[in-house]
Amino acid sequence: MPQSPSKSKTPNASGQKAVVIGAGIIGVNVALALQDKGYDVTILDRGEPGMGASFGNAGGIAVTECAPIAMPGTLMNVPGWLMDPLGPLSVRWGYLPKMLPWLLRFLAASSKSRVEQIATELAALLNRAWDDYDPVIAKAGLADAVFKKEGAMAVYRSDASRRKDDYASDLRRRNGIKIRDLTRAEVRDLEPDLAPIFSCGVMEEDWGRVLDPYKIVMGLYKCFLDQGGKFETAEVTDFVYRDGKPRAAMTTSGDQITFDTVVVACGAWSKTLAKRLGSPVPLDTERGYNTTVPYHDAKLSRMVICADDSFVMTPMEMGIRVGGAVELGGLTAAPNYDRAKALFAKGKEVLPKLNGDGGTEWMGFRPSMPDSKPVISKSPNHQNVFFAFGHGHLGLTMGATTGRLISDLMSGEETPINMTPYRINRF
Ligand SMILES: Cc1cc2nc3c(=O)[nH]c(=O)nc-3n(C[C@H](O)[C@H](O)[C@H](O)COP(=O)(O)OP(=O)(O)OC[C@H]3O[C@@H](n4cnc5c(N)ncnc54)[C@H](O)[C@@H]3O)c2cc1C
Repeated sequence: MPQSPSKSKTPNASGQKAVVIGAGIIGVNVALALQDKGYDVTILDRGEPGMGASFGNAGGIAVTECAPIAMPGTLMNVPGWLMDPLGPLSVRWGYLPKMLPWLLRFLAASSKSRVEQIATELAALLNRAWDDYDPVIAKAGLADAVFKKEGAMAVYRSDASRRKDDYASDLRRRNGIKIRDLTRAEVRDLEPDLAPIFSCGVMEEDWGRVLDPYKIVMGLYKCFLDQGGKFETAEVTDFVYRDGKPRAAMTTSGDQITFDTVVVACGAWSKTLAKRLGSPVPLDTERGYNTTVPYHDAKLSRMVICADDSFVMTPMEMGIRVGGAVELGGLTAAPNYDRAKALFAKGKEVLPKLNGDGGTEWMGFRPSMPDSKPVISKSPNHQNVFFAFGHGHLGLTMGATTGRLISDLMSGEETPINMTPYRINRF
């Protein structure tokens, strides 16, 4: 049963009106955490809650993923990836000029010294993920019904391909993340339906998965409403200032929704509003694809990460989800579902009993910063403005932690970690 708002209300928060823009996994977690501090919270979204990137992601609570997307040597791999139009990375060439500043920062983030630092800063968030999620999911009554904590298994076709990940494994271990090497036989024993093509694997001990990412958002959203939270359908385009401070959100229908404090949590669409609030930010999107097929014969008991081909397979409530990939193409181009089909074909190679009948394809916009770190930040310009976006491949994983940290920042309490690495003006 949902509990009433927390015992630890912040005295000066009581009754203050906080508006959270965006009802994805980040927005609902932030809203719940602010309620706990005693804020009177309204979520605004231009559509239904949970229908953005948070709807159809791979469902991994990927607490071991502290290695950033830009790694030493990434640049060398790019030409090979791009040769395959349906490979793990593709670019909509018309969008490339717009994305160039992001790409240059992405490459700058791939130097060894930056990677070492970024991994430690990501691990500081990831190592808290379960501690922050556990009370939230218990309060929302979700617990074991939708969260599974049984680890994930990465698989490799050859020992040579495993060795390519040695540096990433080392980074993880040095940042306190538990991983365990698996032999060919152990891989077979753990997932007997996989094709016998893997020479070894890695058990990522503390991973979890959710049975349906959309249900998580909706479960948290329901808890928020049960605790007196409000929701309005509204597309925010700008802000109204009074005495130099943003005081209301302006919407496409001409309404002005007033607030004492505001949080921008619009995922991949946060850039425009951040700029309006005086904080230009190099946010872009890495589009990702997947196919979800109902259960037929193929069985998996945990998430499987196919490291050589950069895709994952997740057993979910409604079936097996196969997906991944990165497409750089901005927010407006139509999806190219051939990418979902190509990933599914690779899935069938790996899990031969997979059956595509009744499958559904999906594309989502990961909100990505060039250095793979989210923005969890107070505005440098306005005391009453906060930002929570840019979680890239890890928004589901970092949802509760982001909520907790934003609520600490807003209420002026000491945060459990140093927030400097995630500030909006770090570029
Ligand atoms: C294929 C794929 C697989 C993934 N797998 C995983 C995984 O296994 N584990 C993991 O941790 N993460 C994963 N992710 C990443 C994760 O899905 C995202 O990081 C996360 O969903 C981002 O959440 P969000 O709340 O920031 O954004 P969203 O869920 O996109 O929500 C943003 C919301 O803001 C609203 N909005 C936008 N602009 C406005 C506006 N102007 N006014 C009002 N409302 C607005 C939108 O309507 C939307 O509801 C994956 C992503 C993809 C695409």
